[in-house]
Amino acid sequence: MKNYFCIVLFIGYCSNSLAQYTNVNPINCKISDHEKELVEAMAKYQVNYYKRIFDFEPTTVNIDLIGKHKDYLKLSHSSTTKYKTAGFYNPSAQKAFVDKTRNAYLKTMYHETQHAIIHQVLPNVPAWINEGMSELFECFEVSKDQIKPDIQGYKFYKMKEYAGKNSLNLRTFLGLTHSQWQELNGTEEGYSYTVSYSFVSFLFMKYPNSVDMILQKLKQGRNSIQAIEYATKKEFNQIEMEFITAMR
Ligand SMILES: [Zn+2]
Repeated sequence: MKNYFCIVLFIGYCSNSLAQYTNVNPINCKISDHEKELVEAMAKYQVNYYKRIFDFEPTTVNIDLIGKHKDYLKLSHSSTTKYKTAGFYNPSAQKAFVDKTRNAYLKTMYHETQHAIIHQVLPNVPAWINEGMSELFECFEVSKDQIKPDIQGYKFYKMKEYAGKNSLNLRTFLGLTHSQWQELNGTEEGYSYTVSYSFVSFLFMKYPNSVDMILQKLKQGRNSIQAIEYATKKEFNQIEMEFITAMR
């Protein structure tokens, strides 16, 4: 755990293009120009990250910001579920929906923006890396002029608890479909988010550039285990052991 003080991503601002990366549509609410700028800056940052890996022309990320909690619940079909979401991305509608009544709605917009962008380069993205990357970006500190990586210390704390229990089978976890991932997340609030975020952070820290390579290999049709073994040049069992040990 002691090595997890910071996650450094070197992302160049290679273009001064006037492209608009986000389109936030407030419904029954308002969003300030400053907040719009922050969402735009974060989207640009993420696009630049993925442009280092994939050759693609990003399409604008559409976000409906919902002002009434009841309306959001209806849209998310989560009015009856145990744990409520604060936002979601609908790949077929190519649109994100965010509950404005939540305090962290800006962070949720950074999170959903990642889903929208990764789906452009990797439509079949596995759940663990899709959510892990969103969790990673959502906690970054964003201002108009700079974006600073930050960590979610609470999740590492929770991960330490899970690692201590020896109940995690990482190989199985990485193979979960999005719905299986969600189902597991419902058994203990935030479980799947915690494991995904912690594992992605571990990869960034211990194997710099491995995430870039994993994403490339996934795009080429490898499964998660094959992609991880290729990128780290290690057997998966070894990686699993290193992860659990690092988190304890
Ligand atoms: Zn998500």
